[in-house]
Parts: sequence; structure tokens; C-alpha cells
Amino acid sequence: MDSLKKNIAQFKSLLHGTGIKLIAVSKTQPVSALQAAYQEGVRIFGENKVQEMAAKYEALPKDIEWHMIGHLQTNKVKVIAPFVAMIHSVDSLKLLQEINKRAEQNGRVISCLLQVHIAEEETKFGLSEAELFALLRDPQLLQLQHVCIKGLMGMATNSPNEDKVRREFWKLKDLFNQIGSEFEGDNLDFSELSMGMSNDFHLAMKEGTTMIRIGSLLFGERD
Ligand SMILES: *Cc1c(COP(=O)(O)O)cnc(C)c1O
Repeated sequence: MDSLKKNIAQFKSLLHGTGIKLIAVSKTQPVSALQAAYQEGVRIFGENKVQEMAAKYEALPKDIEWHMIGHLQTNKVKVIAPFVAMIHSVDSLKLLQEINKRAEQNGRVISCLLQVHIAEEETKFGLSEAELFALLRDPQLLQLQHVCIKGLMGMATNSPNEDKVRREFWKLKDLFNQIGSEFEGDNLDFSELSMGMSNDFHLAMKEGTTMIRIGSLLFGERD
């Protein structure tokens, strides 16, 4: 736990004054590890499984912001709708409509990011550029009063080629700027760009990220 304390302190000082938020990616970690991070002032946790997030929400203080960063199935939205602070992994209108419905039932507006596929790998989720613009232009989007689309999320290729990773982040930032200036709507408030993980956050910071999602560099390698 001493290393956790040290790791958190290092990220805090790195991010100090930048306005960049640290999402502590706590997936697979026991509640005790989140408690220890909470003691060090961490208030934003990222999880990728609905049941795991709900169980941790129950067990931990209520001033924590819970961010869903993993692929989300429509039939599971209802489990996290009462408390989730932000969903980073929105990749369809259908999912957005379900989030809207469940947010309304809970008297809430849920912040969402649209996940864009920027990596080379086939396996990573997310919208293509064409799908992203089709979603933003869909008139049904404007009817969703219980979601607020705050920006974009992306995962770069897992590669030691820094130029390649930077280009992918640059591309996401470029899309973010373009959408922010071209699209308007009551439920659109483009202000957040979620990019950068343990192995590439330093590149994401150079390319203008506003939220870095860090797991292993805080908590240690996962099994
Ligand atoms: C696991 C995960 C992270 C954190 O990964 P680390 O390499 O451990 O920092 C970030 N984003 C997403 C979407 C993840 O699933």
C-alpha cells in the first residue's frame, strides 16, 4: 500500500495545475485497495464491469464519482443508472437511448462520452468516424434530455511506436475540436477528452487530454 500512496502522490503532482483529471482504474482491485486510494484523496474511480462497480459503490463512501470505462450492454444500464457519474464507452444510439430512459427513471442526467475507434487493432470497441458523425446528426439525439454528451473517449494502439500513438491521439483531439465547433444541442457540452492509460498517458497529455485513465501505474499490474 505504500507504493499506492507514492504512485498517487506522483500523479497528483504531475497533474497539479493542468486541469487534467485522474481516473483511477480500479477494475479487479479489492475494495480495500480503493479504500486506500480514497484515503489518499482519490475521488474518481473507473470500472469496466457493471456488477463489480455496483458492489464497490455499495461498499464505499458516497462522494466517489464512478466512471464506466468498459463496454456496456444495454440490458445492464439499469444497474448503474442510479449512481454512475459518467459513461465513457457509449458506442451506439441504442445504448444512449437506454441510458436516457434509465436516467429519467432515476431523475438524473447522466454524462456520457462517445467512444471512437482510433486504434489499429480490430478488437477495440468504438465508433468509426462515419458512425460518430451519423450519430451526432441523428435527429433522435436531440430528444434525449437525460443524457449530456461531454466529449470523446479513445484507446490508442498498444504499440511502442510513439509517433503512431501520438497521431491517433491527435486524430481524436481533432475530431473533438471539429465536433465542438460544428454541433450544438441542449444535451451536447463538448469539454472532455478521455485518452491515455498507464503506457501512453504522457503522449495523451501532449495531445491535449482532459482525463487520463490509470490502472496499473497506481495499483500495480493486474493478474
Ligand atoms: C483497464 C483500462 C484502463 C487502464 O489500463 P492501465 O494500462 O492499467 O492503466 C484504461 N482504460 C480502459 C478502457 C481500460 O479498460
